[in-house]
Amino acid sequence: MDLRIGQGVDVHRLVAGRPCVLAGVTIPSEVGPEGHSDADVVLHAVTDALLGATGRGDIGTYFPNTDERWRGADSALLLRTVYDEIRAAGWRVVNVDLSIIAEVPKITPHVPRMKESLAGLLGVTHDAVGVKATTMERLGAIGRAEGILVFAVALLQRG
Ligand code: MG
Repeated sequence: MDLRIGQGVDVHRLVAGRPCVLAGVTIPSEVGPEGHSDADVVLHAVTDALLGATGRGDIGTYFPNTDERWRGADSALLLRTVYDEIRAAGWRVVNVDLSIIAEVPKITPHVPRMKESLAGLLGVTHDAVGVKATTMERLGAIGRAEGILVFAVALLQRG
């Protein structure tokens, strides 16, 4: 049995007037992540963890932010595209674990829906998806609510 671990990190600025889509879930918020796609910083970190575990590139090489095809793209579609390729190579996700660091919006009330969304996208049960939320204790740029930072790890199995 082959096991691989992958890590993904992503950060996006938070700006007024953008939808706030995190892990495929739209969260009521006055600010949202800025970016070329829908800027779902959570799914981007997870996608990079899957790519990293299997020795592939990163989300930027798969979906360049200079490519008009990905303007406003649904990041769930990007994740599915990557996971389809990885699955075709024989891999499947065992579990993922995430830490979301943000002052705003408040993440915790939305964690159950985010876990459900991720479990659905990855074809795993809820107990295979960890979503934790914390703040930067108002330290630095993230602490000033200028952005949102996500760390993800994924364990993949083949055979
Ligand atoms: Mg990103």
